[in-house]
Amino acid sequence: MEKGGIIKHNIDKAPKTGDWRYMKPQVDASKCIGCKTCVPHCPEGVMEMRARKIEEIEISNKIGKEKELVDIDFEYCKGCGVCAQVCPVKAINMKK
Ligand code: SF4
Ligand code: SF4
Repeated sequence: MEKGGIIKHNIDKAPKTGDWRYMKPQVDASKCIGCKTCVPHCPEGVMEMRARKIEEIEISNKIGKEKELVDIDFEYCKGCGVCAQVCPVKAINMKK
């Protein structure tokens, strides 16, 4: 590899973390405002935005159904907690 080269993340070659991850991020649908701040900060690239399910709209009627909710692929999330740190409204809590 050249000096200063960029290693691109390839989710297909990433190790699955579901068995050994210690902490797990939990998204509070009533708090997430769909700002997407957490998505580019995730070092594993396992966060993406998705439409809200009906029950998630009901518990967050202040936020509005047009606001997307962040979704996490727990097969590859390593539980680092970066997403919880950067969320401006503290919608992600790290749980064991
Ligand atoms: S805990 Fe880390 S790896 Fe998991 S979704 Fe959050 S930022 Fe990504
Ligand atoms: S979890 Fe927080 S940072 Fe991520 S989209 Fe929702 S409000 Fe924004």
